[in-house]
Amino acid sequence: MAHVFTSPSPPTLAVAGQDDVFPIRRVFCVGRNYEAHAREMGNDPDREPPFFFTKPADAVVQTPFNMPYPVQTSDLHHEIELVVGIGKGGADIAPDDVPKHVWGATVGIDFTRRDLQQIAKDTRRPWDMSKGFDNSAPMAPIVPMQNVASLTAGRIWLKVNGALRQESDISQMIWSVNDHVAYLSQYVTLAPGDIIMTGTPAGVAAVGKGDVLEGGVDGIATLRVEIS
Ligand code: MN
Repeated sequence: MAHVFTSPSPPTLAVAGQDDVFPIRRVFCVGRNYEAHAREMGNDPDREPPFFFTKPADAVVQTPFNMPYPVQTSDLHHEIELVVGIGKGGADIAPDDVPKHVWGATVGIDFTRRDLQQIAKDTRRPWDMSKGFDNSAPMAPIVPMQNVASLTAGRIWLKVNGALRQESDISQMIWSVNDHVAYLSQYVTLAPGDIIMTGTPAGVAAVGKGDVLEGGVDGIATLRVEIS
C-alpha cells in the first residue's frame, strides 16, 4: 500500500570511523543519575529508583552542530551525558547481560528548557515540551563498543566558552549503565536503534546565543555545539 505522502527518512547517527550510520528508533533519558546533580536540583538521591523520560528520535542531531537558540524558553540548560545505543533488543534483561545488547556509546547533550520544566514540575504536568524539542539532543558520532574504553569509568566534562562547567566521572552514576538499562527493559521491550542518555553530573546552567559548548567522555568521544 502506498503512503499518502512521502515521510522523512528515519533519523540516524553517524558511526565513528565508518560510512555506515546507526538508525535511531527511540531516545530514553535517565533522570537524576548522579548524586551531586540530584542534590543541586533539590532532590534526595538516596530515595528513588531510576526514572525515565523520552525525546523524539529526530531530536538527535549530529555534532559539530550550530544550534539556533530554541523557541519558547529563556532558560536553556546544558546537561552533558554518556549515551549508549542498543544493537540487540530485549525485555527483562539481566544487568550482567546488558553488554550483549549495547552496540556502541558516545557523548550527547540533553538540552532542557528549564523554565518550562519548572512549570511542568510545579503544575504536575509532563516534561515532554521541556525536554523533547527540536535539536534537543546533539550527539557525537557513535563509537562501536570494541572501540569504547569503558562504560564504568571515565571523566565526563563540559566547557562553555572554554570554562569548565560540568566535570565528574561516569563511575559516579547512581545507577550504572548495566543497572539502569536492565531496569528500563522491565518497563519497555528494548529494540535495536534505541538510544539511552544516561544522566548528567552536577553543574547544569544556562547558555545563550554565541556560546560555544565543548564536552566529552574520556575514552569515548567529544562534541562541540555553537548556539546562534
Ligand atoms: Mn538529563
